[in-house]
This record gives sequence, C-alpha cells and structure tokens, in this order.
Amino acid sequence: MTNNSDATAVQRERDSEVAKVQILGAPVSRLTMRQAVEIVRRAWKGDAAFHVVTANAEMLYRCSKDQILAKIVAAADLVTADGAGVVLASKILGSPVPQRVAGFDLMTECLKEAAAVAVPVFFLGSHPQSLQQAMANARSYYPNLNVVGGHHGYFAEDEEEKILEQIIKLKPSLLLVALGVPKQEKWIFKYKEKLPPCVVIGVGGSFDVLAGKARRAPVWMQRAGLEWFYRFLKEPSRLGRILLLPLFLLAVFAQALKQRLFS
Ligand code: UDP
Repeated sequence: MTNNSDATAVQRERDSEVAKVQILGAPVSRLTMRQAVEIVRRAWKGDAAFHVVTANAEMLYRCSKDQILAKIVAAADLVTADGAGVVLASKILGSPVPQRVAGFDLMTECLKEAAAVAVPVFFLGSHPQSLQQAMANARSYYPNLNVVGGHHGYFAEDEEEKILEQIIKLKPSLLLVALGVPKQEKWIFKYKEKLPPCVVIGVGGSFDVLAGKARRAPVWMQRAGLEWFYRFLKEPSRLGRILLLPLFLLAVFAQALKQRLFS
C-alpha cells in the first residue's frame, strides 16, 4: 500500500466512525460544518475521488423513487444534511444532526480552505455567463484561490469525455459540480473512478448564487427553516418540487413508526 492509499484507508475508517442517521435509506452524517470541512481537508490528501452529497428533503424523497440515485447516495463518501427538512427528519427519527451543512455554505467554506492551502479548484456547471461570473467572484472573494479551470453545464453526452480529459489534465483537488439534482450525482458517479484524486461536491444552484444571479433567503428565514419557502416565492415554478417536502415527511414518519414497532 502506498502512503496515499494508506491515508485514504485511514480516512475511510475515521469517517465510518462519524455517527450517521439512516433517512429513507440514505446514510446522513451527524456532523457540524467544522467537522465536514475537516473531513474534506483530510480527503484532499487521499488517492481517490471522494464524493460529497449535500442532501435535501427533495433529493432523499427522490431516492425512494429512483433506485439509481438511492444507490449513488448510499455509496457516497459523505452525505450531509443540506436542508431544514432533513434536520427535522433526523429529530423525528431520534438521531438529530447537530446542524445543517448546506451545499452553498459547504462550498464557500471549502473555497476558503482551498485558498488558504493553495488547493487547485475546478468549476463544472451552470450557464456559461453564470459560471464565468461565479469563478471571477470566487477569485475576488478568496484572493489566493487557484481556479485551474471551469466548464459550463450545458454539454451533450458526447462532449463528456473531453470535459473529463480537461479535468484529468488540470488535476483539481476540489471539483465543484453544479448540474442540479440528480444530474450532478449521476455525472459524478459515472466518472468517479476516472477522476483524479479530489473532493467532488454536487452543489446544485450554488454557482448562480456565487455569481449574484440568484439570492439565498435572508438569514432569519434560513434559521427558521424557511429557505424552501423563499425559493418558492422567487421561483413559483418550483411548486412541484416543494410539494415533495410533505411527502418526504410522511415517509419519514412511516419509517419512525416502523422503527418503533420493530425495535
Ligand atoms: N444546470 C446545468 N446543466 C443542466 C441543468 C442544470 O448546468 O443540464 C445548472 C443550472 O444552470 C443551475 C443548477 O444546475 O445552475 C441547478 O440549480 P437548482 O437550483 O435547480 O439546483 P438543485 O435545486 O437541483 O440543487
């Protein structure tokens, strides 16, 4: 075993010690943002791609209908509680997560760390203009950030190999993938074995927020667990997706009931 693969094996062992709560079959880690960033920092030293999923209620509900997505989430190296719905679910199931580790927040914390330790970063996803603006803003917010490349997220399947080659050539240690759920998770899973050693995170619409094209909910709404409502007000076309939230909670109550009956 090389030193690097030793490091990866040790990391996997340590990460398996992080307490998890199974929510509709997905292993959500019960950790704080600080702990999540610490895991990312260690994974930078590994010898394989390390997949981080930031799971919200909609994604976990989709997992109960999409077996491929469910397998991908179950096989991820780290699954964090992205949304208030997932935090609530963990409480209902009696294994509360200590806090929300939202995709946008994890991305910005990792960019901060990447700038501090000069780790190369690649941005994949979003519309070309949004992507360019997000990369420019990232460079200006984190002055020492080493952004080695980026590619927009509107590519045909036959362009994927070329994008992969670009990523392999540039060897980023942090790969941010903003293609939306479940496209980003499926893309990461498809190419995970071919990717260079890196931490790869599916970050949804985060580039649009970083670019200033979309806004996050005010902090009081985030704290009150109402970010989903803010997104609905801004984009009423998301109604269909937001309606999955009560279905998710119903499924969680059913899981909690089963746990009580069979424990
Ligand atoms: N997107 C992309 N390629 C696609 C579909 C979507 O790059 O084929 C981008 C889109 O421009 C947006 C992000 O993926 O920046 C999805 O944002 P959304 O807020 O819907 O993310 P989710 O809620 O799915 O995490």
